[in-house]
Amino acid sequence: MINERVGYFPGHVNVGLVIGEKGAILIDSGLDTQTAKKLKKGLDAIAQPLCAIIQTHAHADHFGGNSYLLGCWPEAQVYAPPLEEAIIRYPILEPIYLNMGAEPPADLRNKFLLAPSSRVDHLLPPEGDIEIAGVPFTILSLPGHSWQQAGIVCDDICFAADSYLGEEILEKHKLPFLVDAHETIASLEKLLASRYKGYVPGHGPFTTSSQEAVSKNIDLHRKIYREIEDLLREESTLEEALARLCERLHITIENASSFVLFRTAFMGYLVGLLRQERVVYRFVQNRWLWRKNENLVQDGAEGEER
Ligand SMILES: [Zn+2]
Repeated sequence: MINERVGYFPGHVNVGLVIGEKGAILIDSGLDTQTAKKLKKGLDAIAQPLCAIIQTHAHADHFGGNSYLLGCWPEAQVYAPPLEEAIIRYPILEPIYLNMGAEPPADLRNKFLLAPSSRVDHLLPPEGDIEIAGVPFTILSLPGHSWQQAGIVCDDICFAADSYLGEEILEKHKLPFLVDAHETIASLEKLLASRYKGYVPGHGPFTTSSQEAVSKNIDLHRKIYREIEDLLREESTLEEALARLCERLHITIENASSFVLFRTAFMGYLVGLLRQERVVYRFVQNRWLWRKNENLVQDGAEGEER
């Protein structure tokens, strides 16, 4: 526990715990039934029934435990951000969007990309205060890693979801997953300006100040922006450019899951760069070609993003 009623179950994915008047509230539920069984043991050990699960976002490793937990406690209520909620109810949407909207092949239907479906009973507000099972929470909008990712604050402890990665994990990932680099950086800047008593990221250690880890995440995203801009001095398709970026970052892609995750993240960086007019594209011989915008006038506002 971090304080009297707020704590977390540490793991590959940290699962937040808040003790309410009538039982426990979990923030996310981990990857799968195996994780969920451990959570159940943990709740049994403190004699707390589950009364709610608050989802931060709809990635399989954050809601894969719902199915088992809701089987044990059918009366528990599930809260999720809008849009994320749709994917939690129809988890096949994750392999579908990673496969560019087409029918996902068997290799994209593993437990890391496709969790069992779960009901969602309540939508979280995009931002602001909400009472859940008698406990006041503040919802922070932290989009970028996913479309409507939410940070969950209780008793001045911020569950920051995957808005930033712990430093060790950041180094391992090299090219962090995101759907919009621009929003990712804006969310990180919002966190950087926050002063909560404690921070629990989805992946990484609890800290009393997240500033160092958050700054490192921002630095990495900006470095990747510059790398992409630099390699797009040679005009290329998304997939060619991704292969070249992976070489630079010493990433070796060996399966379909990693490929589609990296490809989506790469597109997330490209749309971020496009928004700042740092890249442009055109269509040549049926190819969608991207290149650095050499005509960009670097004014103050633009420079800030770097
Ligand atoms: Zn995630």
